[in-house]
Amino acid sequence: MKLGIVGLPNVGKSTLFNAITQAGAECANYPFCTIEPNVGVVAVPDKRLDELAKIYNPEKVTPAVIEFYDIAGLVKGASKGEGLGNKFLSHIREVAAIVHVVRCFEDSNIVHVEGSIDPIRDIETINLELIFSDMEVLERRIDKTRKSAKSGDKKAQEELQFMERLYAHLEAGKPARTLETTEEEQEFLKQYFLLTSKPVLYTCNISEDDLLSGNIENEYVKKVKEYAKSENAEVVVICAKLEEEISSLEGDEKKEFLLSYGLEEPGLNKLIRASYKLLGLISFLTAGPKEVRAWTIKKGTKAPQAAGKIHSDMERGFIRAEVISYEDLIKCGSETVAKEKGLIRLEGKDYVMQDGDVVVFRFNV
Ligand code: GDP
Repeated sequence: MKLGIVGLPNVGKSTLFNAITQAGAECANYPFCTIEPNVGVVAVPDKRLDELAKIYNPEKVTPAVIEFYDIAGLVKGASKGEGLGNKFLSHIREVAAIVHVVRCFEDSNIVHVEGSIDPIRDIETINLELIFSDMEVLERRIDKTRKSAKSGDKKAQEELQFMERLYAHLEAGKPARTLETTEEEQEFLKQYFLLTSKPVLYTCNISEDDLLSGNIENEYVKKVKEYAKSENAEVVVICAKLEEEISSLEGDEKKEFLLSYGLEEPGLNKLIRASYKLLGLISFLTAGPKEVRAWTIKKGTKAPQAAGKIHSDMERGFIRAEVISYEDLIKCGSETVAKEKGLIRLEGKDYVMQDGDVVVFRFNV
C-alpha cells in the first residue's frame, strides 16, 4: 500500500521525498528495498523492536515498511489537462492514501506559484482539482446508472439517489470523504475509486527558524489545523529541509544533530507513523533468537490471516496463536516469566489481532 505525496509546486514535496528515500536507504537489509525513481520505501520507526532486541539478541531486526510515491506536477487546471494534469491524477488513483504537503514557511527566495503564502487557498486549489476529476468520473457513472434505473432496476434507482447526493456534495466543493454515508452507500462509494474518498494527512512544511524557536504552531499551521478539523483529518508539522539534512546523517552524528536542536527524534518518524495509521495498518510482532520483526496487517485482521502474512502454510494449517501484549512481555522481562505468570494467552481462529501483539503461531504442516 502506497501513499502519494501531493501539493502545489515549491511547497517542499521533493525535499520531503528525498528525506524519505535517504532514510529508506538505511534499511538496506530489507528484501524489498529496490527503489524506483519516484517510489521510496521506508521503515516504520518502532521502539518496541529495539526493546525486544534487548531481550532476544536476534541475528536481525526487521521493521515494517511503507511506500511513498512522489506525485509532482499537480497544478491549478490539472483536471482540465493543464501541466501534465491527467497523468498526475491517474498516479493519485493508484495510491491508498494522500500526504498533502502545504507550504507554511516564508522565504522570499522561493517563489510561490500564487505569489503569496496562503495554506488554505493552496489546499483548496489542490482539493478542487481532485474534486473536478471525481465529478467527471461520477458523471459518466450517473449516465450509465440512470439508464438501468429507468429500466426498473431497483438497486440502480437506490444507487442513483446516492450518486446524485454525492455529486451535489462534490459540486459544493467538498471531498467525497466528508460525505456522511450508510454502510450500503460506503459499498457504492468504494466502487467509484474517487480521488477525494482517499484518506488524507495534511503535512505543514514550516521553516527551520520556526521549528528551532519552538514556533511550531505558526499562524499558517493554526489555519491548516482548523481546516483539517472540519474534515476530521490529521495534521503533521515538519521542516522538510531539516529532515533532509537529518536523514543524510547516520548513527552518532544523527543523534548529536538531533540533540543540538533539542529534538527527540526526526519529524519524519511522526509523519511515517501517522501515515501508517492513516492506511489503517497495525503491526504484530514476532521475536526469537533469529529475528525480531514487525509484520503489517490491516486493523481488524484475525489470527489465521495474520499468520498467512508470514507463510500461507501457517494460515492453511492454523491451530492457534500464542499471544502476549508487548507491554506485558516487557514488564516480565522474558517469555519464561510471562509463562509463569500465565500472561501468554491461547487464541483461536476468531481472535482479532491487536497492535503490538507478540505472537507464536501453531500450525499443522
Ligand atoms: P516541490 O516543488 O514541492 O517538490 O518543492 P521542493 O522540495 O523542490 O522545494 C522548493 C524549494 O523550497 C527548494 O528550494 C527547497 O530547498 C525549499 N524548501 C523546501 N522545504 C523548505 C523548508 O522547510 N524551509 C525552507 N526555507 N525552504 C524549503
